[in-house]
Amino acid sequence: MASWRWGGTHHAGTVSPCGREVTPLAVPQPERGALRLIQLLARGEPLPRAAGPRLPISAVELCSPLPRPLRSLLCVGRNYRAHAAELAGTVFRESLRAVGSADDTWPIVFTKFADCVVGPFDAVKMPARQVSVQIDYESELAVVVGRGGIDIPRSRAMDHVCGYTVVNDVSARDVQVRHQQWDLGKSFDTFCPMGPWITTADEVDGRDTRVRGWVNGELRQDGRTRDMIFGIPALIENCSRGITLHPGDVIATGTPAGVGMGFTPPRWLKAGDVVKVEIDGLGFIENRFA
Ligand code: MG
Repeated sequence: MASWRWGGTHHAGTVSPCGREVTPLAVPQPERGALRLIQLLARGEPLPRAAGPRLPISAVELCSPLPRPLRSLLCVGRNYRAHAAELAGTVFRESLRAVGSADDTWPIVFTKFADCVVGPFDAVKMPARQVSVQIDYESELAVVVGRGGIDIPRSRAMDHVCGYTVVNDVSARDVQVRHQQWDLGKSFDTFCPMGPWITTADEVDGRDTRVRGWVNGELRQDGRTRDMIFGIPALIENCSRGITLHPGDVIATGTPAGVGMGFTPPRWLKAGDVVKVEIDGLGFIENRFA
């Protein structure tokens, strides 16, 4: 499922299996992207009829498949062991010691404002220097919730997955650390590129796929989702404890090792840098920092 602009208007619809063509579907408020389609799928209803001709994907401007998610994204911190190890050498070491190490029981979960979502190839705005000078990238698999629910046990969690998409959980590290809670430093305008579309769970298994991230063509991150500390079923179980998940909710599952903060000295992003995030089976997003 994808969302795009073409001919001066928004459209939502499907992507051909090869990823080369899009077909618009007759959905009300197509600017709300694929959300309506996710809701239909979650109820087991058929997708609407086509609302126009198939178009080559190169002819349209892809938007985030969820240009404005229903509410904040749920995000998971420190969810790969190699990434946890690289953070242990940073300012996060104190908070991580409190969390524990190999025998973690509970994941770190924070939120990212829905408003910061931008398209898969949109520019990311660097903040003013007095606001932050430590801008970092995080390549991540995002789970898109299909059927909603509360107190979902991990044994049934995969029944609630509609599909997956790619996000860059862009982070202002100095702001993230300063406020103890991470939300402000994670939610600057444009700090959540998402896309290129939502791949449904029958086409790819997010529990084991490859996540890679590049900065200016240099491979920085290369991990597999099977190496998560908390796998997708455990994350859905945790995020739905006492909280109803709705169709279209997004859970960003954490990033592999290789973020800029993990280098000595840290390698912060600067204006003009281009970050690409690719996940096998899902496609890639690529964003210039400006
Ligand atoms: Mg993250």
